[in-house]
Amino acid sequence: MNVLLTGGAGYIGSHIAVELAEAGFDIIIVDNYSNASKEVIHRIEELAGKRVFAYEVDVCDKAALSEVFRKHDIDAVIHCAGFKAVGESVQKPLMYYRNNLGSTVTLLETMEEFGVNRIIFSSSATVYGVPKALPYTEDMETGPCTNPYGSTKLMSEQIITDAAAARPEMSAVLLRYFNPVGAHPSGRIGEMPSGVPNNLMPYIAQVAVGRLESLGVFGDDYPTKDGTGVRDYIHVVDLAKGHVAALKYSLEQSGVDVFNLGSGQGSSVLDLVRAFERANGLKIPYRILPRREGDLPAYWADADKAERVLGWKVERTLEDMCRDTWNWQKNNPNGYDE
Ligand code: UDP
Repeated sequence: MNVLLTGGAGYIGSHIAVELAEAGFDIIIVDNYSNASKEVIHRIEELAGKRVFAYEVDVCDKAALSEVFRKHDIDAVIHCAGFKAVGESVQKPLMYYRNNLGSTVTLLETMEEFGVNRIIFSSSATVYGVPKALPYTEDMETGPCTNPYGSTKLMSEQIITDAAAARPEMSAVLLRYFNPVGAHPSGRIGEMPSGVPNNLMPYIAQVAVGRLESLGVFGDDYPTKDGTGVRDYIHVVDLAKGHVAALKYSLEQSGVDVFNLGSGQGSSVLDLVRAFERANGLKIPYRILPRREGDLPAYWADADKAERVLGWKVERTLEDMCRDTWNWQKNNPNGYDE
């Protein structure tokens, strides 16, 4: 069965590719490499133990995308391609709307033209906006989002939902990710942010490797157990396996369904620092800084629906996430550019 994976060279996409291959699917990757290295494809093939097709294609480019659909008899699509930096989306909202919405529309049009009916979409817990209650459940009201990146995810969910309503043969699964971290246990693929990382785990990893001096903890006066921000961290391999479960589910049903992909557990910034130190026998120097603008104090997933309906739940602990992050970081201090 042929699965088209957009953004398949990215951090999450590459892990999905490996898990799909392991589950016996054939993979066709499209990626414009705007935030990924071509070396990733070799690493995916090495881990998958088989050839994957990869095309340098921007999902917004209808002609180029159609060419891929012409070449391959695609059974389902997993749509991960998109810009994902929250801060940048505030600075360049139009670039985010054009890219993230344009790609979703172009992909859906192309799917319709070629009679492809199944789509799994990379959404985000950010669609819930400011928490109305915790944990987040899938039937909770969504939005308004706190930044344009989040809005592109929420709007893409709506676009896919409307497209599916107009084509009853369609099956769409919207996956709302919590905070994906970690790396493949082989240390061959992982996250490599360009420049100084915005996100907590890659920042800690770069402190550990000596590239950055100390972690700045954004606020210790939140109404949480230790005053630092609380999130639901999920190992990227668990997240990738969630896509395989969602894909199998989409083969058996039609309509739209939505699932949180999280652990169901909230962890604070200091929990993560301590888990990293424990898992790797390292010290992570940190200092307390003021709160970061736009940050929510705390949120985590109700992960029951995914377990009940998809038969999927996380299997990896915070320590596993920290160990695998460090294994990747220390073996690839310069990312894919060896
Ligand atoms: N955080 C921090 N220092 C950093 C980066 C993040 O203290 O250098 C905190 C941030 O305030 C939040 C948590 O870590 O409470 C997770 O932040 P991240 O940017 O990884 O994810 P998001 O805010 O998008 O959930």
